[in-house]
Amino acid sequence: MSVVVLVEHTEGNIKKKSLEAIQYAAGIAQKTGTTVSAVVLGTLADNVMQDLGQYGAQKVLHVPDARLNQLHARAYTNALITAAQKEDSKIIIALHDINGRAVAPRLSAKLKAGLVAGALSYPDLTNGFAIKKQVFSGKAFAYVNITSDVKVITLMLNTFPLSKTEGSASIQKLDVNFSDKDFGIRVKETNKITGDIQLADAQLVVSGGRGMKGPENWGLIEGLAKELGAATACSRPVADAHWRPHHEHVGQTGGTVRPDLYIAVGISGAIQHLAGVSGSKTIVVINKDPEAPFFKAANYGVVGDALEILPRLTQAVEKFRQNHK
Ligand SMILES: Cc1cc2nc3c(=O)[nH]c(=O)nc-3n(C[C@H](O)[C@H](O)[C@H](O)COP(=O)(O)OP(=O)(O)OC[C@H]3O[C@@H](n4cnc5c(N)ncnc54)[C@H](O)[C@@H]3O)c2cc1C
Repeated sequence: MSVVVLVEHTEGNIKKKSLEAIQYAAGIAQKTGTTVSAVVLGTLADNVMQDLGQYGAQKVLHVPDARLNQLHARAYTNALITAAQKEDSKIIIALHDINGRAVAPRLSAKLKAGLVAGALSYPDLTNGFAIKKQVFSGKAFAYVNITSDVKVITLMLNTFPLSKTEGSASIQKLDVNFSDKDFGIRVKETNKITGDIQLADAQLVVSGGRGMKGPENWGLIEGLAKELGAATACSRPVADAHWRPHHEHVGQTGGTVRPDLYIAVGISGAIQHLAGVSGSKTIVVINKDPEAPFFKAANYGVVGDALEILPRLTQAVEKFRQNHK
């Protein structure tokens, strides 16, 4: 018996967020006296898969079908069910991202399994199988007890810090009976997000809202982000107005970030925005309106004009870094 976890990879590397999912699976395996079987779909080098042992996977079940290098929700579901059956697994874990959100409900329906989407804690086994999760766009928490035999969990990103240990996972090829229906979509074009720091993985984020007035002022956001080594993000109206690309939009209808530091500049703090950022460890808000709702969610706040504050803050960070070289 083992805990089965879906692993995501891109350009020959495991995505950092998937390492966290493996580590989470390892924590559950330890609590339940089982092991971790990581499911890798698509083409990936053996040494990269073996290294998953450093995050707690004993075994990798590999389906080396190149069609799986991109998300096919039905095929992924089929592969995970095959893996779970092979391993006699009662717990299946994926990330609470686009892949996990596409696959987990299908798994839940097909296996008649209870699902916790967006887990924020390990299961409390003294209380059944109770897991903490956010509800009402992050306004409250719920503890959900999964009572079914098979359990499906999607883990909220950036919930636990990563730690690496010694270890090497064994690799087994997994045969899956796919049908044509499993590959019902065809990707015609891919526009890759470029940039040094990917928003989903970023530990530091500088984010701008409508208070930045226009795209011509975004150099100020980028300047601070560059000085800090941070990724940039934005509110939805900013992306809707094409000041910034849509992949930077965070919130209920955008991406979810949980960085160590989220600096919100000229963003009011609407509940739909907070839904995507309220898991940040520290929130700093810069807003000219002292009544802006975001201040209620902030650890630190600066009341003032962002266009004046940002250059001074960037300069201060630059000076600090020079003095601490
Ligand atoms: C179904 C639904 C889903 C949604 N999903 C999302 C989502 O995923 N993400 C999201 O962000 N929004 C989402 N929204 C929109 C959301 O409700 C807000 O309208 C939006 O977040 C507001 O964006 P904003 O804070 O940038 O702009 P505004 O609300 O216009 O706020 C601008 C802020 O900037 C401040 N400001 C102005 N000038 C300056 C200055 N010079 N210096 C400093 N501060 C200044 C103002 O005081 C104000 O607080 C959604 C809405 C709906 C209905």
